[in-house]
Amino acid sequence: MDEKHHILKKYYGYDEFREGQETLIDSILAGQDTFGIMPTGAGKSICFQVPALLLPGITLVISPLISLMKDQVGALNQMGVHAAFLNSSLTFRQYMKALEYARAGRYKIIYVAPERLLTEEFQAFALSANISMVSIDEVHCASQWGQDFRPSYLKIVEFIQMLPIRPVISAFTATATREVRQDVVRILQLRDPNIVVTGFDRKNLYFAVKTPRDKYKELSNYLKDHSAESGIIYCATRKNVEEVCEKLLVEGYPVTRYHAGLSDSERQKNQEDFIYDVKPLMVATNAFGMGIDKSNVRFVVHYNMPKNIESYYQEAGRAGRDGERAECILLYSGQDVITNQFFIENNRENEELTSTMLKTVMEKDRERLKKMTYYCFTNECLRDYMLSYFGESQDNYCGNCSNCLTQFETVDVTDICKKLMGCIEESGERFGTMAILEALHGSQSDKIYKLRLNHNSFYGTCKQTSLARLRQIVNHLLVEEYLEQSADQYPVLLLTTLSGRILDGEDEIVMKISEEKEHQTTAKKKARYVTSTLPEDGSNLFERLRRVRMDIARAAHVPPYVVFADKTLVEMCQYQPQNKEEMLQISGVGEMKFQKYGAKFLEVLRHTQ
Ligand code: ADP
Ligand code: ZN
Repeated sequence: MDEKHHILKKYYGYDEFREGQETLIDSILAGQDTFGIMPTGAGKSICFQVPALLLPGITLVISPLISLMKDQVGALNQMGVHAAFLNSSLTFRQYMKALEYARAGRYKIIYVAPERLLTEEFQAFALSANISMVSIDEVHCASQWGQDFRPSYLKIVEFIQMLPIRPVISAFTATATREVRQDVVRILQLRDPNIVVTGFDRKNLYFAVKTPRDKYKELSNYLKDHSAESGIIYCATRKNVEEVCEKLLVEGYPVTRYHAGLSDSERQKNQEDFIYDVKPLMVATNAFGMGIDKSNVRFVVHYNMPKNIESYYQEAGRAGRDGERAECILLYSGQDVITNQFFIENNRENEELTSTMLKTVMEKDRERLKKMTYYCFTNECLRDYMLSYFGESQDNYCGNCSNCLTQFETVDVTDICKKLMGCIEESGERFGTMAILEALHGSQSDKIYKLRLNHNSFYGTCKQTSLARLRQIVNHLLVEEYLEQSADQYPVLLLTTLSGRILDGEDEIVMKISEEKEHQTTAKKKARYVTSTLPEDGSNLFERLRRVRMDIARAAHVPPYVVFADKTLVEMCQYQPQNKEEMLQISGVGEMKFQKYGAKFLEVLRHTQ
């Protein structure tokens, strides 16, 4: 066994590296700058932690996420690795104490927030320390093109240049489009970096978009079919979180909530209730989830459309980290676009930005929102849509998304498109989608009369076509750029340079169309919970092992999955190891963890015989 496999087995209890991990580790150990682009849940931490344990000196891990640092340092300590974090959650005294230990060489891995790098105390430490590697997590934060630009990331280069010996640099992100990738390499001045992109595809995730008339009812029905499973429901605003959570509580669901408006202590408690499966359902804003790697999340429902594909893929990706089947459902409504537009126009979150930076960021944000909206409109494979967005082109059929599993008819809608465009043109490109569609449909509402759209020569020319279908056609034209929407608060429909091709009869529009999108059955196959692979009498044993795990977790103040994942407990039930040697064969049981907890689990397992 080579050294890296030895470390993997000893500390993590795993036998095999996953896709990309070995390449990244080898590259780092060969002393080459390395850039790993891997989706959430692919296992980035191991890519820098394993080399960190093999390199002679200290590894600094730069990360912007306080909760993630705490979690990872906690997990490392559980495994018997000496690690610490330095960020604003420490008091000044704690901070100085940690630095003192660091100087004394106590830690192999130190997590540090980017804004700490250039402080006097930290510099003093860094200049005298033997730093073998600087590893930068969430590295897209360095790019203005990224979805979460943090100017403090620009200081990393300055910090590295200041060090007496340049350490090897490794950088990681889950979400990087080609633009961001190039930007990162340039900004961080990576030297001839080895760039490794592992598959973004998460095959165990089922994706679906729905446009229900009543989102709450849709959610409530969904939860009825998925009781006893753990899931996250993301909402756009705190108010939404409160409303949805309240209603679910009234219906008797074991649900908790999370958003920035709650006190620290309540957030902490609710998060723990969720992680410990006391409340397996979480309703939250996007403030929730960073650094949480609860492995048994079976579904992520987005009650509102998020602001971009990056966020969506990351949030949805919190489902099924154990590799078992899980579902990602997005409930779309037009209002979601307006809410997000409002957020973009009023974005003052990032105080580090200058006004020119802010302008660029806003422009990019609008573009990203458009791509997200089109995800909700497309009738093509949803997985393919997202993977193409990340620059990974695929087959246009995955067989595991709502579009691939829906029967569409192929319809020539050129005629309707001509009427639609005619109506827009004649009325001077001044109206929003709803007004135009109602006019085509021949609505007799006050609004249409007031706008004098009943005098439009295309008024009522699409009476036979349902409003829902007309809307699908507009959406399709937007995706294909035959139409566009203005970027106003109340967007109006505009013709584009391509529109003429339809009006002149040069192009025909043939599209896949479904009659009633919202009545589609979603998952044909029902979600399979990890424990369903248990032997028949196994669930009792599983419960007992879980209790042991819970006791250990409580005593150590870590989430249960940090002790052992569900999957590890399931394997214990299946193979019922009776001694150390057999126990070490179980995936997720390493030498260090065995020493700490092995006896407690063996005791339970031996008593089942
Ligand atoms: P990321 O940071 O890429 O989102 P993590 O590093 O948190 O992902 O890893 C996700 C999960 O996958 C963790 O529970 C981790 O222990 C597990 N994992 C990582 N590498 C392996 C491996 N080689 N074998 C089995 N499990 C792994
Ligand atoms: Zn598909």
